[in-house]
Amino acid sequence: MENQSLIINGQNLEGDHGNIEIKSPWDLQTFASVASASKVQAENAVASSDEAFQTWRYSNLSDRMEIFTKAIKSLREEAEWLAQLLHKEIGKFEEDARSEINRSIDYMELMLSAMKHWKGNVYYGDIDPKYPRNKKTGIYSRVPLGVVLAISPFNYPINLSITKVAPALLSGNTVVLKPSTQGAYTSYEFYKHFTKAGLPNGVLNIVSGSSKEIGDPLLTHPLVKLIAFTGSTEVGNHIRKVSLGVPLLLELGGKDIGVVTENADLELAVKEIVKGAFSYCGQRCTAQKLALVHVSKYDEFTHRIAEETQKLELNPMIDESAADFVMELYIDATSKGADVKVSPNHESNKLSPAVVSNVNPEMRVFYEEQFGPLLPIGKYETEEELIKLVNGSPYGLQASLYTSNIDQAFRLADKIEVGTVQINAKPDRGPDNFPFGGVKDSGQLMQGTIETLDLMTRGKMVVVNT
Ligand code: NAP
Repeated sequence: MENQSLIINGQNLEGDHGNIEIKSPWDLQTFASVASASKVQAENAVASSDEAFQTWRYSNLSDRMEIFTKAIKSLREEAEWLAQLLHKEIGKFEEDARSEINRSIDYMELMLSAMKHWKGNVYYGDIDPKYPRNKKTGIYSRVPLGVVLAISPFNYPINLSITKVAPALLSGNTVVLKPSTQGAYTSYEFYKHFTKAGLPNGVLNIVSGSSKEIGDPLLTHPLVKLIAFTGSTEVGNHIRKVSLGVPLLLELGGKDIGVVTENADLELAVKEIVKGAFSYCGQRCTAQKLALVHVSKYDEFTHRIAEETQKLELNPMIDESAADFVMELYIDATSKGADVKVSPNHESNKLSPAVVSNVNPEMRVFYEEQFGPLLPIGKYETEEELIKLVNGSPYGLQASLYTSNIDQAFRLADKIEVGTVQINAKPDRGPDNFPFGGVKDSGQLMQGTIETLDLMTRGKMVVVNT
């Protein structure tokens, strides 16, 4: 597999710091390499995107849309090849990789249609007797901000970059994309289709490299006008600290709790929670990372979960240290009295699914994001106790409520402090027209289609006086 060069101002450039090798999680063998940019190259990427902005911002929407339409067509033709790359690069099952690629192309189509419905507003001055009808009319439109810095995580490197890149470009911004290192190879291959479709030089620059070297130079560059980041809370908090006054779109960690009430359909709850906890080896922000079960259902639920979990075959974790971290939380919980329902097998980055029950907030796994295939189960007796436990979490991305009582569903959903409450289903980011986002340590602001367009632009008034 060849090396991927940086893409800056339409040129393919070698990295000043050579290349970074990427190992496939499946066999830990070198799969490919990507260029490692220097601080100067990162700064050049921002400067080039700013220069391109001066023209791109005034381009006709029809021209931008035509480029997207062409890119969509060629991406569809190569979707299977891209899915194979993604499967190898980030250790996702083929069908999951296929689903990520297709969903990302579908999102581009969704954004094209959102653009057709995106509109401004007209304000009339005749609320004031000084300005009789038609004397003063305000035209309120949305204008682009400038260079958007987009940073994506390893678990959905394509989907969580296109949901930044597409709205940014269509609304007239330019973009510097810093892909997650693991996932960068496929990202370069994906975004080459934009160049092929006629995207002008500099409108989308891509720089891979060590975050230590290029992170802060990108985050603190004065020409960056918005940072759109998805990743861990730790890095998100660093961004909050160093970015001076720049708007931030942050999608951070999650600890999505599945609440199994006394009114739950247990079969449904078990099916959803197993899928939610273990797909892609639990490496999803919206994974079901803790189950809290009413005492009346606790024994049966735990028994059934253990039964289902033992049948699973999982993909490998992204690397050994990610698996080690899950084991650290497992050992902490069991040493503090958690019961082992399914014990994990651990070798390097391969970790089999595990279940522990009888967990409580004294154990790290209760409120820390494990980001791996370990499901902790705890119990509660009253709704008051439940709400206290759920809202005691530092995270607030999604929560699932399993109940067949509609009054209880609304009552609890109203009190749970998260971005999205799912009733009778596992947490999920989609469908992609649904606004999505978190509160507290899970980030800020809800994104979607029109919602993201609004967040990536600012209002501007032109007042016509006659
Ligand atoms: P991560 O370690 O925070 O990395 C995310 C991105 O930030 C990567 O591109 C990474 O580059 C980059 N980065 C790291 N340090 C940086 C710095 N100092 N300055 C600038 N960029 C820096 O997260 P991850 O391990 O890739 O992803 C897993 C996390 O993302 C989990 O916590 C998960 O919950 C969260 N996530 C949240 C959502 C959501 O929508 N809320 C969705 C998916 C994932 P390198 O790859 O080069 O380190």
